[in-house]
Amino acid sequence: MQGGVVYLVGAGPGDPDLITVRGKALITSCDALVYDYLVNPSLLDWTAEGCDQICVGKRPGFHSRSQEEIANLLVRLAREGRSVVRLKGGDPFVFGRGGEEAAHLREQNIRYEVVPAVTAALASAAYSGIPLTHRGHSSALVFLSGHEDPDKGTGGIDWRAYARLPATLCLYMAMGRLERIVAELQAGGMAPGTPVAVVQWATTPRQRTCLTTVESVAAEVERLGFGPPAVVIIGPVAQYAETLGWFEER
Ligand code: SAH
Repeated sequence: MQGGVVYLVGAGPGDPDLITVRGKALITSCDALVYDYLVNPSLLDWTAEGCDQICVGKRPGFHSRSQEEIANLLVRLAREGRSVVRLKGGDPFVFGRGGEEAAHLREQNIRYEVVPAVTAALASAAYSGIPLTHRGHSSALVFLSGHEDPDKGTGGIDWRAYARLPATLCLYMAMGRLERIVAELQAGGMAPGTPVAVVQWATTPRQRTCLTTVESVAAEVERLGFGPPAVVIIGPVAQYAETLGWFEER
């Protein structure tokens, strides 16, 4: 082991108050900060003077670096002996490719630590009034990536297999393929009237929630102009958004 340290830090879902105390302390003290587009820009204000801030996220019209370029950048900064914060939206180990970055650092003999955070599904549920588990309604929780092509065959998610689980399904990155996904879920036996909540920009002033059903969600999302970033929560507990929602009415 040599040189500096890389901290893979979860920034949380949006509201800067939802980062961990440790995450904030590391941002305050690091001398290089490598961050994604989905990270709330106000977190950057916490950095000390002289801290290098490097955006590597995908933003329309901006160059975004490949995963390999990001990994190499982290290694280079650490070899310069710096304390590097790699700030990622939500939790670094939930659909955040944090595992790949950690593996690369390990391979290159760079010291690293991982700081967890509130992931988008938990934040979306809390801020729209949906208890993800509930005695009698749901005793299991599944986080799924909707990014994978349902027509892809092997390697893709077998959506039909999830249709009959007595679980709450939380879909990340699903807005582009929602129609195909809900068709697959229904083909797998999910009742068309199963409640669905779509929560967009959770925990931020732009948060919106749409409460609907599996059979109507694709059309509703289209009608209301919902897009990413959003989490789709599927299961009987989604219904609670109607009575327990609190954030959007503040
Ligand atoms: N590591 C992140 C997930 C990154 S994948 C985490 O743990 O939350 C990006 C996806 O996260 C988006 O497509 C969306 O599904 C979800 N997401 C991130 N921020 C969100 C927010 N504020 N509101 C709703 N969904 C969000």
